[in-house]
Amino acid sequence: MDVFHNPKHPYTQGLLQSVPRFGSSVQKKDRLDVIEGMVPNLLHLPDGCSFAPRCYKKTVECTLSPIPLQPVSERQEVRCIHA
Ligand code: SF4
Repeated sequence: MDVFHNPKHPYTQGLLQSVPRFGSSVQKKDRLDVIEGMVPNLLHLPDGCSFAPRCYKKTVECTLSPIPLQPVSERQEVRCIHA
């Protein structure tokens, strides 16, 4: 359940922020959050992280080589170098 309560990957964070929360004490919004951009063409994935073209945390290092899966806790791993 850590992925829902303490997401580490920026894409997971973005997805969870786009979910409407009825009855929440969080300030109501006129519009849901969105992840800008388009999903990548699976036949032409970008070098490095596939999420880089849409990621708010992207740096040059994200685009250079495949991103390794890294442990971030005893029960969580993430494929992100800035998690
Ligand atoms: S590796 Fe870089 S581009 Fe990919 S999710 Fe992490 S911060 Fe974003």
